[in-house]
Amino acid sequence: MLIQRSVSEEQPSTGGALAPVEMVVLQGTSFCNLNCSYCYLSEASRKNTAKMEIATLRTLFERILYSGHLGESLRVSWHSGEPFVLKPAYYREAIGTILAIRDAALGPNFDIQFDFQTNGTLIDQRWCDFLKEFEDIVSIGISCDGPAYLHDAHRRSWTHKPTHERTLAGMELMRRNGLQFDAIAVVSRDGFEHPEALVEFFATFAGSIRDFHFNLHDELDLISCEADSVDEFAERYRHFLFRMLAAYARCEQNGQHLNIRNFASFYERVFSTRNDKPLYDARNMSRPFRTLNVMSNGDVSTFYAGLTGDECGDLYGDGRGFVLGNLLRTSLDDIAGSPKLQRVAADFESSHAACERDCSYYDMCAGGYNLVKFKRHGVFDVTQTPECFVHVKTFTDALLDDMNKGGAQRFF
Ligand code: SF4
Repeated sequence: MLIQRSVSEEQPSTGGALAPVEMVVLQGTSFCNLNCSYCYLSEASRKNTAKMEIATLRTLFERILYSGHLGESLRVSWHSGEPFVLKPAYYREAIGTILAIRDAALGPNFDIQFDFQTNGTLIDQRWCDFLKEFEDIVSIGISCDGPAYLHDAHRRSWTHKPTHERTLAGMELMRRNGLQFDAIAVVSRDGFEHPEALVEFFATFAGSIRDFHFNLHDELDLISCEADSVDEFAERYRHFLFRMLAAYARCEQNGQHLNIRNFASFYERVFSTRNDKPLYDARNMSRPFRTLNVMSNGDVSTFYAGLTGDECGDLYGDGRGFVLGNLLRTSLDDIAGSPKLQRVAADFESSHAACERDCSYYDMCAGGYNLVKFKRHGVFDVTQTPECFVHVKTFTDALLDDMNKGGAQRFF
């Protein structure tokens, strides 16, 4: 895989103004109690039990909430590592600290919402009590890949034990406590054969799941990029989608409403007005500063949620990937004005400009493929990767086919 930089050393240009900060992704700890086969974090970081101290969190949020970079509200998301290995008492103190700084800096009417992305295995009654206590401002997403034979194929403990039973117990406890949650499933190649089982599994939690989202495990890296292999993968994905849409329709007829975010977002894009379209495009979704990722040591990156120093380590010559600075030592203003941010922004802008110019699916693409394009081609200003073909074009064509057969009615 290419990660050698072959683009020219660009003149600094952000390619547009910084976005107001809408989301701060916090890595409270990178430690995880599971060892899922497809995890994007390194094994070393998932075994690192260091946590973000409350004093560190206080400094970070003093810098963020007193900066001039905020929008009208803020979402704080604990993600990247298993957040529930830290106890409810930690988050009670963390949320209290952030809200106290908010009150002093911006007043109590500035809206801050919090969420957690968890594997669900540690949810117990104490967690449910905590979630009830903060129900107005805290939500959670549970990662579960569907029935046990799909989930346990990839989501295993460090001692290789299956984890489905524990995740399911967490979801059941949430339901018994009357608490809602989002569900996120990774669909692997083996899952292509089981779309009905996937939809039916989550539909049994229909009243408790607010939003269900599936991500395709990107196995294209693992197969040859020969056109035949990609075509075959895309064809299987297309059939998976058609069967999933049919299963979804059957559940709706049975009165089990499951909001599948992937499909709902597609329709939002299709039916958005011309004025609203820019809100959904890839350039807007990855505008610098819209999302700040803050790691447990204070390192900051932006552009995509979850982007870290592990990604493309020496692309910008400092061995720090997309890390722009450390918020414990640097102000947000200094990071905003850093030459490195301008170089990354210039690369991303050249990527978006190529997409807008050359790709007929630009309006339907949520983006997120800039790094994939670079890794495949060694430059940013290109279009067309196998990932684009599968994730964007195949998905769009399948949904449009379904829509032309009357499928859109299911969503309205
Ligand atoms: S599908 Fe690929 S080439 Fe097309 S707009 Fe999206 S990222 Fe760009």
